[in-house]
Amino acid sequence: MMSRIALRCEGCENPFTARIGAAPTDLTRFYLLCPICGLPIRGRATGQELKEFKIEFEDAERMDAEIPRAPVVTVDPSVPAKRDADSDSGLGSFTMQTFLILLGDGLSDYFSDAGTAVDAATERWTGVRRIWTYYLDKSWILFDKAGKSTFPDWVVASTDLDRTRSAYRALEAITSRIVGTRAIGSTIFLDRYRRKDEAAIRVGSYGDLLRQDVADGRTQTLERDLFALVDTFARNYDIWALGRLPRHLPDSRKSSIIELTLFRDDFSQLRDLYQQGFELVCKSTRFVVAAQNTVKRGDPNDFGTGVPASLNAKQPPATLKAFDKLPNASRLAYVSAVPGWEGLTNLLNNRTRNAIGHATAHHDLRSGKIVSDIDPAGTPYLDFVGYVFDVFDAVAAAVQVLRTARVNALLD
Ligand SMILES: [Zn+2]
Repeated sequence: MMSRIALRCEGCENPFTARIGAAPTDLTRFYLLCPICGLPIRGRATGQELKEFKIEFEDAERMDAEIPRAPVVTVDPSVPAKRDADSDSGLGSFTMQTFLILLGDGLSDYFSDAGTAVDAATERWTGVRRIWTYYLDKSWILFDKAGKSTFPDWVVASTDLDRTRSAYRALEAITSRIVGTRAIGSTIFLDRYRRKDEAAIRVGSYGDLLRQDVADGRTQTLERDLFALVDTFARNYDIWALGRLPRHLPDSRKSSIIELTLFRDDFSQLRDLYQQGFELVCKSTRFVVAAQNTVKRGDPNDFGTGVPASLNAKQPPATLKAFDKLPNASRLAYVSAVPGWEGLTNLLNNRTRNAIGHATAHHDLRSGKIVSDIDPAGTPYLDFVGYVFDVFDAVAAAVQVLRTARVNALLD
């Protein structure tokens, strides 16, 4: 729905009319630019029901009635728009029209994926979150109760191995629905990794390592952290949902998106999601390189003698323990050196990570970019939302890596 609200800018004191596209929400932070003086005016929309729906503004006061011929500004926090769009300029002016121009024939694919994802992140996730809470607590009666009420075909298991498999199958049902059909890189990575794992498991020291990691509690800690992170991503789905859009753009439209801004202001939450996801995916690379080392050299700890060309190091790490202490960029370089595995590492951009993690990083509302001392040109907010989506794709792949490590450790 579109709400028309008569406002007066508290900066230049001119009246204008804001048309705000708003959907039911716990909280949506958006902003608009005063159509006269360009002052950023932040807004908050709250309310799941129509009668309690409320929009509040900073830096603008509400007026009782619209002033005839006052400028109109249109903002929909769920659709990117042109910064200076007037009401009928095509791209970026009217919500559905924007998607149609950007996606063309791909419109229905996009909305099919988006609809599946929102259902998974909201309705379905509450059941799977319950399954996982009981899985982590080893509370098996409630685990099965939650399983049966969420999945009609749930099978009650009696071994840790089967319960672990059921828990991960349930989690994958969510993550794969959220990521959707445009996940080429992570799909190739997982396919190659699983084949490597199948070869590695024939070597005794690989299984020993995975069992030792469970005995030490290392695997379970990462499992808990990944589950908690998937939960945070799911509960905040609406702030990064539009990161799906770049994956669906035809090449001929990739440049159009540069003209568009997403008038939302969730930078600090997005930054947390990005950084936490980045860290946990890097932690999970231990299991990935262990499989590679085992297949290549018969020992999960043996990194051989070569160092990836992108690194300055003279020697590879002596053990997995030393590998775990390497900086994120170095660990990712070892992963991307394996053919097909760049499908995972391409989802993580270390330059973006450093730029947004910098203490000076902030969302400049006037330019619509994330800027910092080390990235003064800035990253468009909509691009950053796309990078957050990529990180979730990588997190979903890391969950599958953990599943493999966990299940292997339980095999006889
Ligand atoms: Zn103004």
